[in-house]
Amino acid sequence: MPDCIFCKIVAGELPGEIVYRDELVTAFRDIRPVAPTHILIVPNRHIASTNDLTVADEALAGHILTVVAQIARQEGIQDSGYRLIVNTGPHANQVVFHLHLHLIGGQRLRYPMG
Ligand code: AMP
Repeated sequence: MPDCIFCKIVAGELPGEIVYRDELVTAFRDIRPVAPTHILIVPNRHIASTNDLTVADEALAGHILTVVAQIARQEGIQDSGYRLIVNTGPHANQVVFHLHLHLIGGQRLRYPMG
C-alpha cells in the first residue's frame, strides 16, 4: 500500500529495528516505546485494521498470536509477562492503519497502558 509506513518497514524502504520476520509477519520495535519492551507485530500484507480481516485471514490472524511467545522469549519477558493490544479506529486512537499487535512488557504495567 503506497504511503503506508508499516508496509515500507516490511519492504525495507523505511528503517525499522526488526526483531522477527517470517513469510507472513514482521515484528519491529515501536519508535515511541511506552515500556522497556514495546514491539509491533504486523502482517506483511497490508490489512488496515481488524475491521478488514476476513475468514480467509484466519490462518494469518492465528499466526500473529503464535509468534508472540517466541518474541517474548527473545526479549526475556516470557515469564515476567506482557500485554497485547490492538487498536482499531478513532476511539482506540489507532494512528497507523496497518493492522498491528502491540507487545508491551519489561515492567509492571498499569491498566490500561504504561
Ligand atoms: P496505534 O495507535 O495502535 O495505531 O499505534 C501506532 C504505533 O506505531 C505507535 O505506538 C507509534 O509509536 C508507532 N510508530 C509510528 N511510526 C513508527 C515507525 N516508523 N517505526 C516504529 N513504530 C512506529
